[in-house]
Amino acid sequence: MRKERTTLAVVITTALVFCAGALAATPRYSSPVNTKLTQAMVSYTGRADATVRCFHVADGADGGTWIDTAEVQLEPRICARIRVWSIWTPSAVEVFAHEGGHIVKGMSEGDAECYAKANIRRAARLLGFGPHKADVIKAQALFDAC
Ligand SMILES: [Zn+2]
Repeated sequence: MRKERTTLAVVITTALVFCAGALAATPRYSSPVNTKLTQAMVSYTGRADATVRCFHVADGADGGTWIDTAEVQLEPRICARIRVWSIWTPSAVEVFAHEGGHIVKGMSEGDAECYAKANIRRAARLLGFGPHKADVIKAQALFDAC
């Protein structure tokens, strides 16, 4: 009985120490920077401090959100649709281009959308798509009025 209590105490203490360490190491946003998307975003926006994280957006934004002057969060499904070609890829690249438009143009939805519309082919190329697929993405992305 005493040995079981000691073992239980060691297990609980170990778990608490592990959890405390994990909490202390948790960054401001609990998702790592996506290196590939960040490199594309830095080039797309011209901002060396631009970052992209793939993270479930808490505020219910559709697909992605611009959460800080140079940080974008994209839902994991958007990141996956950018990574693997499918019928959903043009709209996913459009989200990337739109949120990057906020980094360049600021708060205005219209300005961000116009920036995306004018630059989506370049965004697609920076994301690694070839010229033909970049043209398909440009043709199939659905933009709001700008
Ligand atoms: Zn927006």
